[in-house]
Amino acid sequence: MVDVAIIGAGPAGLTASVYARRAGYSVLVFEMGMPGGQASTTDLVENFPGYPQGIAGAELGMKFYEHAQAFEAEFVFEPVVRLEAQGDVKKVITNNGTEEKEYEAKVLIIATGAHPRKLGVPNEDKFRGHGVSYCGTCDGFFFRGKDVCVVGGGDVAVEDAIYLANMCNSVTVFHRRDELRANKRSQEAAFANDKITFVWDTVVERLDGDEQLSTVVTKNVKTGEEKEWHFDGCFIFVGYDPNKDAYPEGLKVDDRGYVITDERMATNIPGVYAVGDVRQKIVRQVATAVGDGGIVMTDIERYFREGAH
Ligand code: NAP
Repeated sequence: MVDVAIIGAGPAGLTASVYARRAGYSVLVFEMGMPGGQASTTDLVENFPGYPQGIAGAELGMKFYEHAQAFEAEFVFEPVVRLEAQGDVKKVITNNGTEEKEYEAKVLIIATGAHPRKLGVPNEDKFRGHGVSYCGTCDGFFFRGKDVCVVGGGDVAVEDAIYLANMCNSVTVFHRRDELRANKRSQEAAFANDKITFVWDTVVERLDGDEQLSTVVTKNVKTGEEKEWHFDGCFIFVGYDPNKDAYPEGLKVDDRGYVITDERMATNIPGVYAVGDVRQKIVRQVATAVGDGGIVMTDIERYFREGAH
């Protein structure tokens, strides 16, 4: 049995692992993919302190991983399918596709992050991987010299539109309002980029094509006018949903499934904590994820000393 099991090796989970190891606890970090979390799919992270020129998300993710390894956190690269959290001994159940394995820990930290939300329009699933993508840095390369559209008006939509403009012939951004949610610096860079065109007050109605996406049908929400566009790719960036498949029974979450914690990252279940994007919070960024990971040990140390509240 380890002291602390951390589910997810993104910035929050990896930071928590460093703090836990430095406090002298044994740590197992579970990860189903590459360490680094969603930050690793960001082209350039410009707002994480210490990197005035910005740092590639994948490089920052690897630095977090190396940092956790330097403090001898141990890693299990298996998908976690279930967490059992009632009682003093917590269980982490993984399944690699052929067999289930069970690990025991005194404390669980849920750091499973979030995944891109679907738009929910006809044929979205059919064309996923055939023109529809949720990650510019992962798939942009396939659309070199092509015409693509981006759906959304937040930080990810605007920053990935800028990234895609480096390699695509044109990038058309459809946003449902006439004002972007993205940070001003990114907005200015996008407006100044002559490969990027913004189409306001517009939602995507449906996606069409044969094997591969070729047509995007949009509707202007103010005039009701429908329009058919030709695109080779459609990048959807309309926010995120928490990764909740392994949540333990009885865990308190909000109406969107984000884990409710107190300011020390404690959930309603004694000995169970949540950090990073999976937690109900107002700002989901690398810096705030790292902050959560740095805070969580304060209550865990109290839990080890005194037991449940
Ligand atoms: P977000 O900030 O929630 O923005 C989602 C965008 O998609 C919004 O513009 C929203 O429109 C639009 N949208 C949502 N549902 C839609 C629908 N059904 N149809 C059409 N449009 C829809 O999400 P995000 O951009 O993915 O970012 C996620 C989090 O990561 C945010 O907290 C963000 O600040 C953070 N992040 C920060 C940075 C940075 O600091 N540089 C970089 C990347 C990500 P409305 O605006 O009308 O609501």
